[in-house]
Amino acid sequence: MAKEHEAVSFAHVAVNAPLLHSLVYKSSERLNRGDSVFVPLGHRRERGVVFDISPPKTSGEFTIRNVFEKDETRPLLSDVFLKWLEWLSEYYVHPLGQVAALAFPPLDPRKNSKPRLSKRPAVVKATELKSKPVLTEEQAYVVSSISVERNFEAHLVYGVTGSGKTEVYFRALENALQLDDGKGQGLVLVPEISLTPQLVQRFAERFGDQIAVLHSQLTDRERTDQWWSMVSGQKKILVGARSALFCPLPHLRLIVVDEEHEASYKQEEKLRYHARDAAVMLARSLNIPVILGSATPSLESWLNAKRGKYKLHKLERRVAERAMPQTEILDLRANKRESAPEVFWLSPQLESAMQSALERNEQTALFLNRRGIARTVLCGECGFSYQCPNCTIALTLHGERNLVCHFCDYHELLAEICPSCREGELKSLGLGTEQIERSLKERFPNARIARADRDEIHSRESLENLIRGMEDHDIDILVGTQMIAKGLDFPKLTLVGLVLADVGFNIPDFRSTERAYQLVTQMSGRAGRHQIDGGRVIVQTYNVEHPALQFALSRTYAEFADHELVSREEFGYPPFCKLAAIRVLAGDRALGEQTIEKIAVRAELLKKQLAAYGDIQILGPAEAPMARLRGQYRFHSLFKSKGSHLSAFCRQLLGDEKWIPSSTKVQVDIDPMSLL
Ligand code: ADP
Ligand code: ZN
Repeated sequence: MAKEHEAVSFAHVAVNAPLLHSLVYKSSERLNRGDSVFVPLGHRRERGVVFDISPPKTSGEFTIRNVFEKDETRPLLSDVFLKWLEWLSEYYVHPLGQVAALAFPPLDPRKNSKPRLSKRPAVVKATELKSKPVLTEEQAYVVSSISVERNFEAHLVYGVTGSGKTEVYFRALENALQLDDGKGQGLVLVPEISLTPQLVQRFAERFGDQIAVLHSQLTDRERTDQWWSMVSGQKKILVGARSALFCPLPHLRLIVVDEEHEASYKQEEKLRYHARDAAVMLARSLNIPVILGSATPSLESWLNAKRGKYKLHKLERRVAERAMPQTEILDLRANKRESAPEVFWLSPQLESAMQSALERNEQTALFLNRRGIARTVLCGECGFSYQCPNCTIALTLHGERNLVCHFCDYHELLAEICPSCREGELKSLGLGTEQIERSLKERFPNARIARADRDEIHSRESLENLIRGMEDHDIDILVGTQMIAKGLDFPKLTLVGLVLADVGFNIPDFRSTERAYQLVTQMSGRAGRHQIDGGRVIVQTYNVEHPALQFALSRTYAEFADHELVSREEFGYPPFCKLAAIRVLAGDRALGEQTIEKIAVRAELLKKQLAAYGDIQILGPAEAPMARLRGQYRFHSLFKSKGSHLSAFCRQLLGDEKWIPSSTKVQVDIDPMSLL
């Protein structure tokens, strides 16, 4: 241990670089665990965080270099926060220095200290405070059973759509803000897409200018200013997408994770962390409560609640005596539209319901699942279809002639005749939002129709315009993909149609039924949120009997979850075991295959060598279902275990990675959300 009087101390620095271990540096300045420093790395000057002050463990011949200087612009990270960063690095098998770098904003603080908040709508505007509603009995009960005193506890708030979960978060946050002599802070994580002004507005109406916001569309300057406004203690509640978790809040007393089931909480690049799980771990490190909320909780959280690891709270009714929407399933197989085959997707029942909504001056939303509805093109003679030259997927038709790859953005024009047999005519298959919009314009010439999908909604601003259009009732019929269904709350939206609910049922992933259930429930939940009768939902499908539909429409979430858990247990899938995936990406197919095989051989060996790993099941290696993406061949191997040592196994398996060919990329994905 370095003693006070020693002139030189040794700092173990996690440098912001892809290094597996911390590096040791000398410093004559007194440093502490949690300090940020500038250090030499090769010929570069890099930033890093001090994780330990102690003499180097190995006394080698190599010279220990000096820390350039302490980074005075960055706050000291607390011991518990550092422990959480260490956990992230170990659990998700990612370099500690790169994990620690996420705890800081992109730019240095402003010199003239006082941050100016920009006028862009992305950042919170001053608003008049609204008075609080009287809590429903259910809400009051949940609020009273969530204690914000210092103690780790994970709460799962299962509340049907429109049951007023947000109000529960507000009350718990108010209580948390009182703590630490009124300095208490709260962190609210929401899926990126729901981080619209609509949501931020609701927070601003309750908490005024105590709110800071972090999401992907802020400029670096805005991001830095928002970050400092929280770290300096000036602001009290941070509302943000998953990365907001990394903001080192000095007085954090409560974390809320809204829509906790959302797959988008999993980051699918670099540090492949799940923000919900990481939030629970952070709360545990800080010894504070965390609230997870959803109308359709993940089965992981549901099982944790059943096992008593999470405390379960239920809101089973909508607020203000409003009913749940009335739901019907329509069998599209019975929809014989001989005179108008182009609207095979529109049942007469849905059409007439839309007509009457229009007559009552109310709004309709039609949702289409994004996956699988892609319009592809097929040759009627030889069966040729357009494939992306870089990815194993078909190209999607946009407009009349544009063929696009949704993964790599490859473009080409549709030919007049089949490029393969030079005879056949090319026919378009499938169904897209554009096509629906076009037919609706013909059938409802007086209605104001808007479309919301990846093509239309490419920026936050366009999403905001769309929401304003719905709020101001400049839109009668909204046609969109699932991406816009999340968390929206429009008083005049009384009819929701799920155009083709089937899509996604057959994706080769053990979570596909859970996802389908969540999607149907969440989309239906947009209907009649301010209507005493709860509005109406029409679900059209070719698979009337599918369990996800049957459960979503006639049973409670609890019944669905318990049913689905039985089959997960039977087939040995999460949440009854843990999964880890190792993926190999290579431009050269043979090299990729060799590498994944090497990994599998090493895995077998490691399993035999260490008894502790004996229970790990090795699946594969195999070509990934998405066998080629952006020109890279993809292979994977899956590891399954009931224990909690898959991270350690993967770390040991890859070792120093020196044996991995430099032209291949190896990714570790712990608790993968997608096996494609
Ligand atoms: P959820 O997130 O559970 O789907 P919200 O929190 O969006 O539901 O609440 C639905 C609507 O009910 C919102 O417009 C909200 O302002 C309103 N609301 C919430 N709590 C109450 C209450 N106790 N009394 C009246 N209205 C409420
Ligand atoms: Zn492609």
